[in-house]
Amino acid sequence: MLKINDYEPIVGPQVLEELRLLAGQLSKKRVLHVNSTAVGGGVAEILSRMVPLLNELGVETRWDVIKGGEDFYAVTKKIHNALHGHKQTFEAKDYDVFLEVQEKNLKEMSLDEDIVFIHDPQPVGLVKRKHSLQNKWLWRCHVDVSTPDTNVWHFLRTFVEQYDKSVFSAPIFSQVLSIPQALICPSIDPLSEKNREMPQEEIDVILARLSIPTDKPLVTQVSRFDRLKDPLGVIKAFEQAQKYVEARLLLVGGTADDDPEGAQVLAEVKEAAGKNPDIIILLLPPTSHIEINAIQRASTVILQKSLREGFGLTITEALWKGKPVIAGAVGGIPLQITHKYSGILTHSIEGTSYWLKQLLQEPAFGKKLGENGREHVRQNFLLTRHLREYLLLFLSLYHKGDVVNL
Ligand code: UDP
Repeated sequence: MLKINDYEPIVGPQVLEELRLLAGQLSKKRVLHVNSTAVGGGVAEILSRMVPLLNELGVETRWDVIKGGEDFYAVTKKIHNALHGHKQTFEAKDYDVFLEVQEKNLKEMSLDEDIVFIHDPQPVGLVKRKHSLQNKWLWRCHVDVSTPDTNVWHFLRTFVEQYDKSVFSAPIFSQVLSIPQALICPSIDPLSEKNREMPQEEIDVILARLSIPTDKPLVTQVSRFDRLKDPLGVIKAFEQAQKYVEARLLLVGGTADDDPEGAQVLAEVKEAAGKNPDIIILLLPPTSHIEINAIQRASTVILQKSLREGFGLTITEALWKGKPVIAGAVGGIPLQITHKYSGILTHSIEGTSYWLKQLLQEPAFGKKLGENGREHVRQNFLLTRHLREYLLLFLSLYHKGDVVNL
């Protein structure tokens, strides 16, 4: 079990001292996080590391998951896509399904912690309980809602504006709201199984176990099979680059409990990959952290050709491993990548293919991008910075009117 002191060699002693001081101010508060899946996707990834560390720091913290059936997740996936600005068709019964699940969970969940921290739209309606409990409620939006479908956003906003505060990943993601907003970027845990240092022998063993050949440079995208991650665009870009360079494309994905579209997108990806012997599609269970760590480290170039994105933790993970990343210039990706300095930003299949060819042909340039990317992550996107900002946010709930410098 990792301890907070284990982070000292990476971030230095002052950072940890400050975390202890801030947590000390919250030692009598209990915190509850609620999201919609225990495994799969970026939110679960962060909570799985954040919750034990908050407890170790003395802030009693619990994590619970809202429960819904397939019909609920079909609606929340449509809401997710609509918030990202993708046109969706909603029927009145979709909203009924959403509201019924909120009511059912309200009956079953205990939400009486001092601070209830709700993540994303799926459990947003639980805020109804605030009025009887009079505790503090935070809504954390991990989605880019800068250009949402207006009807869906209006529906959600009636819930959001009942919270004490909202949290967005970046100014560009947020919306005008009647409640205060805090801007806090996500993070990765440098010591988790997914990101810890890994000796080459261990990487080799894992790749051999997964039957991934390493005779050609590996170009990898790790993503849920989701249209907004554009796996079909990745295949097209790779096949264009393949005319000039030798490489293997690895599309690594899994499913998340709250993502019902995955199987269909996977079938489309398999069809598009056809019989190309240099494209490997690898389905991994959502707990395959060591495997993803090894795959990212074994890759020569990492792709994340998203058409829309929240923050894009897969990019943070790859940059931390010093890898050159080519990614779509959407959502939180430009916060992580400065074009041609800490990675490559692209806007099209052609652009992705061009840069893929360049990076495979110029490994020294790729290495430099990776080094700059790793340093940018060290300064900005590690879990310790995220913890500090959450602790300050919790404190700000009890200091009305004070300026809290996040
Ligand atoms: N991930 C994983 N297995 C997969 C696909 C993704 O463990 O098959 C992880 C990935 O390493 C990252 C997270 O899920 O930690 C995805 O977060 P991101 O912000 O990139 O995208 P999201 O899925 O939240 O849209």
